[in-house]
Amino acid sequence: MPQKTVVEVNNLKKTYYMPGGMSQNVLKGVSFQIEEGEFVAIMGHSGSGKSTLMNTLGCLDRPTSGTYLLDGKEISKLSDEELALVRGRTLGFVFQNFNLLMKRTIADNVSLPLLYQGISKTQMYTRAKAMLEKVGLAGYENRIPNQLSGGMQQRVAIARALINNPKIILADEPTGNLDSQTSDEIMTFFQSLNKQGITIILVTHEPDVAMYAKRLIRIADGVVEYDGSVKEYMERQHV
Ligand code: ADP
Ligand code: MG
Repeated sequence: MPQKTVVEVNNLKKTYYMPGGMSQNVLKGVSFQIEEGEFVAIMGHSGSGKSTLMNTLGCLDRPTSGTYLLDGKEISKLSDEELALVRGRTLGFVFQNFNLLMKRTIADNVSLPLLYQGISKTQMYTRAKAMLEKVGLAGYENRIPNQLSGGMQQRVAIARALINNPKIILADEPTGNLDSQTSDEIMTFFQSLNKQGITIILVTHEPDVAMYAKRLIRIADGVVEYDGSVKEYMERQHV
């Protein structure tokens, strides 16, 4: 299968400007390419800019400078409407705290990304139901998030991320609030999604979680400190 680059960042920089004239250079020139079908873990110390990088990759935030091609499109050249469209079609998001609407049903949460796409309520429900089945939550459509365990809530979030058939899943510390057994279950699920061809980009600070990925990008001092095989990196750490 020919390789297709789905993410390409070049010399990405991000500076946060604070009130009072203070500023912080968080990303100081980050460059890498990710091919379709990769499973990449992004690691780095707390505060190293992992979430900043993920928010940029997710087009939730714009970089201070540098270029970002998402699925071949330079995102800085897109209008807000075009960007929203590309995002919606290409990306699925999973967060540490699940980000579910606590007062809405599980089915409503899963079908949320389908809103404003001209899809009927019945269709939305049917698609949510099918997706819930895929993540092992058949029958939970009409519950609310609080009635589910943390691991199940994260699976709801994964179902929501998958509902638009994204090419790429961006997951920022998706197992950060889960015990180790539940973490393993969630990571095994990500692995099976990756085997189906979905590109996965995952932020974690846990080596055990990163080991599910194939490639590791380590961020330190605002730049890429390591980019290569996860296994080789971990083996090197243990010498
Ligand atoms: P990580 O996810 O690796 O822990 P972050 O990307 O969240 O790191 O944060 C990197 C640095 O940028 C931290 O020092 C953080 O305080 C700062 N930071 C993050 N977001 C903002 C923001 N919106 N405004 C100002 N500073 C921020
Ligand atoms: Mg973070």
